[in-house]
Amino acid sequence: MSLMAPDEARRRILAAATRVTGSEAVPLSQARGRTLASDLVALRTHPPFAASAMDGYAVRAGDLSIGYPLRVIGEAAAGHPFSGTLGAGEAVRIFTGAMVPNGADTILIQENATRVDEHHLVPTQTEARGRFVRLAGLDFAEGDVLLPAGSVLDARRIGLAASMGHASLPVRQRPRVAILSTGDELALPGAELRSGQIVSSNAFALAAQVSAAGAEAIDLGIVPDTAGATRSAIEQASDVADIILTSGGASVGDHDFVQGALIAAGFAMGFWKVAVRPGKPLMFGTRGEVQCIGLPGNTVSSLVCTLLFVVPLIGKLLGRPGHADPGREPALLGRDLPANDLREEYMRASLHRTEAGLVATPFATQDSSIQRLLVEAEALLVRPAHAPAARAGEPCEIIRL
Ligand code: AMP
Ligand code: MG
Repeated sequence: MSLMAPDEARRRILAAATRVTGSEAVPLSQARGRTLASDLVALRTHPPFAASAMDGYAVRAGDLSIGYPLRVIGEAAAGHPFSGTLGAGEAVRIFTGAMVPNGADTILIQENATRVDEHHLVPTQTEARGRFVRLAGLDFAEGDVLLPAGSVLDARRIGLAASMGHASLPVRQRPRVAILSTGDELALPGAELRSGQIVSSNAFALAAQVSAAGAEAIDLGIVPDTAGATRSAIEQASDVADIILTSGGASVGDHDFVQGALIAAGFAMGFWKVAVRPGKPLMFGTRGEVQCIGLPGNTVSSLVCTLLFVVPLIGKLLGRPGHADPGREPALLGRDLPANDLREEYMRASLHRTEAGLVATPFATQDSSIQRLLVEAEALLVRPAHAPAARAGEPCEIIRL
């Protein structure tokens, strides 16, 4: 099979996901990062009554005349309404958040009033009718749909949902993502390394990445490089996951067992090579509703491929609109680049602002095993397949990290 274009690979992965996850209710305190499963309707009007926006006096604007006293007939504080009705020439002492009394239409702020005695004030300013009154429903009315299904719940949206009267919210269940780290050379962080071993880091990075994308990560540990172990790990993962991520063993070397194990476990192979750098050996297989993405073992490749192919899939299972959009933005190239080959390239780059615009400068080294540079990078610069040589200053596209 020839190399598949990354856009086509993503399209096929997304097309294979024909469902969204089920819904569940979570309390507001646990809603951050979750995805709304249905449109959210306001259960109440907010504010529920006309409220004062300032400390001062509730009055009738037509009664205000500089130097002419008004009679103070009572007080209204937040949570303590004035029960009477205000008539001509009258005022009610009022505080921020208090209900504006019947008969009043305006707040004269206390800075513009002189209290001449216990029962009288004299305005030092007039005021336009309605000034400093927040009318009932100024923010929203009962029945308004304010948060559409698919919204990702952040601080702003959780605050609004609370004001709308919801104590708990209907959200999509998190897709379960099982992570398998294949490789005889792998040892856990903190363990003694035998000769030839390296620390297995991918599962930790991938778990963090998929949780941030809205999934629940299930780390199924390190899998030895044998056909049997790889197959049984994949079968075990199929029982607990919506998505299986394998790291390593995705090529077709003598010690790469993922493809064979997937086929033996009954997966239909979609593709196994994508024209992308880093990350050419990228595998995709499906069995029923379980999707397996076989990531390359190199740390940078596995993270970049997860960003390009797995995060959109999680977004689709969560019913998030725009899930397929990797969020590219325009920038200017910070240095000359040679012509590209047939693989679309994602180059780790630094960003800086200039008068001409945002400049992205790819690092000289792009080895897919170098994690330090992935952390230093502020963006991935996207080099299309077959792009001709480019000069510093030419437009380019980036994905911010
Ligand atoms: P592979 O895709 O299995 O050929 O692995 C490619 C490279 O990635 C090798 O140098 C592996 O040692 C390394 N590698 C594989 N799995 C991991 C892992 N879980 N954490 C860190 N490096 C890994
Ligand atoms: Mg390996």
